[in-house]
Amino acid sequence: MTETRVRIAPSPSGNLHIGTARTALFNYLYAKKMGGKFVLRIEDTDAERTEQQYIDNIFDSLKALGLNWDEGPDVGGDYAPYTQSERFDIYPEYAQKLLDAGFAYECYCTPEELEAEKQASQANKVAHVYSGKCENLTEEEKAKLIAEGRKPAIRFSIKKALKAFHETSEITFDDLVKGELKQNGDLIGDFVIMKSNGTPTYNFAVVVDDLLMKITDIIRGEDHISNTFKQILIYEALGVEVPRFGHLGMILAPDRSKLSKRHGATAVSDFIKEGYLIEALVNFVALLGWAPSDGVEIKTVDEIAADFRIAEVSSSNSIFEYDKLNWMNGQYIKKMPLEELLEHAKPFLAEYNLERYTHDELLRILEITREPITLLSELKYDTEYLFNDDIKLDEVSEVLSAEYANDVLSRTLEISEGLDFSSEEPLHEAFANLRGEFKEKGIKPKETMWVIRAATTGRTRGADMCAIIKLLGKDEFTRRIKAAMN
Ligand code: GLU
Repeated sequence: MTETRVRIAPSPSGNLHIGTARTALFNYLYAKKMGGKFVLRIEDTDAERTEQQYIDNIFDSLKALGLNWDEGPDVGGDYAPYTQSERFDIYPEYAQKLLDAGFAYECYCTPEELEAEKQASQANKVAHVYSGKCENLTEEEKAKLIAEGRKPAIRFSIKKALKAFHETSEITFDDLVKGELKQNGDLIGDFVIMKSNGTPTYNFAVVVDDLLMKITDIIRGEDHISNTFKQILIYEALGVEVPRFGHLGMILAPDRSKLSKRHGATAVSDFIKEGYLIEALVNFVALLGWAPSDGVEIKTVDEIAADFRIAEVSSSNSIFEYDKLNWMNGQYIKKMPLEELLEHAKPFLAEYNLERYTHDELLRILEITREPITLLSELKYDTEYLFNDDIKLDEVSEVLSAEYANDVLSRTLEISEGLDFSSEEPLHEAFANLRGEFKEKGIKPKETMWVIRAATTGRTRGADMCAIIKLLGKDEFTRRIKAAMN
C-alpha cells in the first residue's frame, strides 16, 4: 500500500488564520491516523501578496500548535517548509510536457483583448470563458506576434482534456468528505497555467508540487472545489494518478457571516496573545466539523487522532463559537498542572516583579486565582493586588464606610499581632474566630471578610482571603489595614 501523504499549503498573504489551522490539523490528524506523512508547503507564487513576516508567522504558529511537519529541506536538524518560489525552475518543464502532448497552448492575447472578450460576454449576458482563439495559431502567426514584442502565456486546453479522458463534458470525483461532486467542464474555460512572465499560476503549481511531493490525499477548504476540477484535468493530461480530495465546510462567525476580525481574533498568533492555551485551541478547532464518537469533547490531540475519521467529518459549515472556546479554555486552565500553567502565565504577568514571591508562592497564586478565569490575560488584573502595593480604595468606599468597618479593621490589627503568618492554617482559624466574634454583634461572616478584603485588595471579590493574607505577609497586610483605616 502506498504511504498516505498529506500537506498544508498556505499562501503567506497574512498571519496563519484559524481556518487554515483547522485544515492543517485535519491533515495532521489524517496523517497520524493513517501512519502517513504531513508536509508544509508555502505557496508564495504571488510575490505581491507575499511577506516574509507572514511566512514566519505561519511557521511559528504551526509549530506552536504542535502541528509539526515530517519533512522538508534540512536546516540544522529541523525541517524548513517547501517554498514554491524556490521551485520556479521546475514548472516550465511540466508546462512543456503539456504543450508537447497538445493539452496546452500559447496564448498571445493582451490584457486589453482579454478584457474586451469579457465585456462582450457581459453585454451578451453569458458566463464568460476564454474564447480559445489562440489555440489554433499557426507558427507564422505566432512569429508575427512575437515580433510585435508579445510574450505568450500558456493555457490549458479544456476541450482536449475532456475529449481525451472523459466520455462527456462532466468531470466527477468522489470527495472524501462530501461524496460525489461534479462539474460541467464546458463551463471552465481554458485557464492560464504559466503567466507570460514565466511564473506558474496557483492551479498549475499546486498540481506539479502535489505530484512531485507524492501527495496522496488533498484535504482543504471547500472554497477550492472549483479548482479541483481543473486540477483533475491537469493530472490526467500529465498522465499521472489523480490524488484523493476531501473538502471541508467553511468556518463562519456566530452571526453566520465570514469570520473576520470584527468578531474577535482570527489569527492563531492573536489567540495565543489573548491568552488561549494551545491545547484548548487545538481541541476546539478539532470540533469544527468533527465530533468525538463518545460525545466527550475535551480531548488531547492523540485521543482525537485515534478517533478521527475523515469520512465522518461534517460536510457543512461550522460556527466558530467564541463563547464555547472561552469555556473550553477555562476548563484547560483549571486542569493544567500548576507548574505548566506558571510557564504559560509568565508572559501575561511580565509587568510584575515575580521575584517578590517564591516559586511555590507563585504556584499558590495561580491556584487561588485560576478558578474563574477563561483567558490567561485575565490573570494580570486578577493578581494585581498581590504585586502592586498601591491599593486604590475608591471602588470599595461603600464597604469601608459601613459602621462596623473600623471595628473589624482594628480587631484585625489586634489579632494579627500574635499571629503566625507562615502558613494559612492558623490564619483560617483566627479569622474564623473573628467572624464568630462579629456574628455575635449581628454582622454577617461574609460582611466581616468583605471589609478585610476591601481594605487589603481594593476589591469586593477575589481569591481565597487567607491565602492572600499569607502571601502578603504580616507587614504588608497590616500596613494595608492601617492605610484603609485612615
Ligand atoms: N495556497 C492555497 C490557499 O492558501 C491552498 C491551496 C491548496 O490547499 O490546494 O488557499
